Amino acid sequence: MQKAVTSAEPFVPEARTLPVLRKAVQECRGCDLYRNATQAVFGEIEEKPKAGQHGVAVMMIGEQPGDKEDIEGRPFVGPAGKLLNQCLEEANIERSQVYVTNAVKHFKWEPRGKRRIHEKPTMREIKACRPWLDAEMETVTPKLIVCLGATAAQALLGSSFKVTKQRGTLQHVEGLAPIIATVHPSSILRAQTEADRQQEMASFVADLKRVSKYLKESVGS
Ligand code: SF4
Repeated sequence: MQKAVTSAEPFVPEARTLPVLRKAVQECRGCDLYRNATQAVFGEIEEKPKAGQHGVAVMMIGEQPGDKEDIEGRPFVGPAGKLLNQCLEEANIERSQVYVTNAVKHFKWEPRGKRRIHEKPTMREIKACRPWLDAEMETVTPKLIVCLGATAAQALLGSSFKVTKQRGTLQHVEGLAPIIATVHPSSILRAQTEADRQQEMASFVADLKRVSKYLKESVGS
């Protein structure tokens, strides 16, 4: 009997350029999530760097594509992405210096009526997809990594990492750029009251201001 594939490794090409990786990810069968998704959603830089800027300064990693991302084939184009852009602007981080991606490249969902509801990926699926994230980090070489939410944070910093306790602080993992973890913008959208939403957004912007400060002091971006 053929053994089930449990890693993206055999599907990741050796050539490390974003166009090659982005094309290859569509053929990935490293776990079962490709079966119910429209397409794989790879990372991207939304805008071209402006003159005088030296490429990607920050790689922001979310959990997985959402409903809109799955259909459009681009990360952070849904409501959470819009909120992220707004908060980046408030924190004075140039969107053109930010590469956005997800820990898992296919949308995991369950049906509820006509709607497709986000389902959290398992640790096994996150591990299976890690070779794509490693390939992106190797290719993009960001100066700083920002983990948006617990899934991305635990993928890079280990399962004992608690975003609620350690958010906004600089973390170090051998072989990777420095990491700052914060919440996922979708958690702000789920706030129960407007007052909670405002407070959570202010905390998120404060974390992004730490990112901005780090970039200015350490990288000169
Ligand atoms: S989620 Fe990741 S590992 Fe699983 S099939 Fe998609 S790209 Fe491959």
